[in-house]
Amino acid sequence: MPYDHRNTARRTLALALAATGCCAVLAGCATSQASPPSGKAGASRATQGESGTQSRPPFASPSAPRSTRSPVPAQGSRSLAGRTVVIDPGHNSGNFRHSTEINKKVNIGTTRKECDTTGTSTNAGYTEASFTLDVSHRLRDLLTARGVKVVLTHDGDRPWGPCIDERARIGNAARADAVVSVHADGSAVGNRGFHVILPAKVGAGSADTVGIVAPSRALGERIADRFAHATGTSPSNYIGSGTGLDVRDDLGGLNLSTVPKVFVECGNMRDPKDAQLLTSSTWRQKAAQGLADGIATYLQG
Ligand SMILES: [Zn+2]
Repeated sequence: MPYDHRNTARRTLALALAATGCCAVLAGCATSQASPPSGKAGASRATQGESGTQSRPPFASPSAPRSTRSPVPAQGSRSLAGRTVVIDPGHNSGNFRHSTEINKKVNIGTTRKECDTTGTSTNAGYTEASFTLDVSHRLRDLLTARGVKVVLTHDGDRPWGPCIDERARIGNAARADAVVSVHADGSAVGNRGFHVILPAKVGAGSADTVGIVAPSRALGERIADRFAHATGTSPSNYIGSGTGLDVRDDLGGLNLSTVPKVFVECGNMRDPKDAQLLTSSTWRQKAAQGLADGIATYLQG
């Protein structure tokens, strides 16, 4: 990308809705991906962060009077016309049938990593790829209604992928104001809640995130706040110490981005209680609403 794309003054935000805790992006998950569609997925990052009882959410209780909550931008209250958001549905339902292609290594600046992964699934076989595409469609519709130009990195219309480096390039080429990569995690039972993954400061090879670290954090913080509000769910009790935020330097989709971008792990597909939420279309609509509200709050400054 041209150098000026790194200028944060452009307020280009690559909103990568990819879930980082999910097996798709975890370094240790290459051999523990979900089998199609009812196989067992390996636990990811299950040993990281807190475990046991759920952390107290730093956000307002869903049952609290509305007047005590932080302001929520009313839908359509302010047009976001002229802004571009790239939505990245994590994984691809076809990846299960294309192991050779998705296992091919690509350069993410700091190292080489698998092109893509299958992602995880619930114990009943609802795949992460199905979840991410569904939420991405709902998010697309909500943002489009507010005047945003939305670009999807894929729409279930290709046999596999895109590779993680291509996912980043799509956001960069769109000169997105924000990119969100949508995912769900595959961690141990009892690990619950959502978290947003932010890019670490990385400068190696083709990776240079210096210009996107700050705006990506701003985007991620607003998404975490609005997501908790819209869904009534708590931030992760196993990553982020109750903040709902994590920072990583091993994700190609973040390392190679030149526009503000975050991954969102909407919940843990391997926990039965979280899975009950993730498989609910009503809850997924709330999740999409939270993401849209967070993005809108960020874009409106
Ligand atoms: Zn994932």
